[in-house]
Amino acid sequence: MKRDPLFYKRPAIPGRKLPNSINEKINNNEQHCCEMMDMFLADPRIPLFYSSLYREYDIALLYKGKITALQGLFYCPWCRTKLPKSVREEWFEILAKEYHLDDPYCDEQEKLIPKEFKSDEWWKKRGL
Ligand SMILES: [Zn+2]
Repeated sequence: MKRDPLFYKRPAIPGRKLPNSINEKINNNEQHCCEMMDMFLADPRIPLFYSSLYREYDIALLYKGKITALQGLFYCPWCRTKLPKSVREEWFEILAKEYHLDDPYCDEQEKLIPKEFKSDEWWKKRGL
């Protein structure tokens, strides 16, 4: 029987914008699976992040106080809810296919990323 992995380790993708430090946590008052998740996401002392852009929950790996990589979560560690599927791959695919941005984090292309792709608007609109 194949079991879903509990964690996946994500390499630091070259050019992917990571928050530099834990002080850059954004709390946009979104509702998550449980009160504990809401609380830890809002707590600036805990290196837990939610990316509304990619719909991903990550534990930041710190090296000398800087975030160097992200450890993605498939399940909530507190209430065990299966977290929603990441839409990161779709973000890159749609930008490449519909907007011809095959390297959206290079300086030139980053300026051309449509506004809806800078928040959760793009995947909510597409019903992903
Ligand atoms: Zn939870």
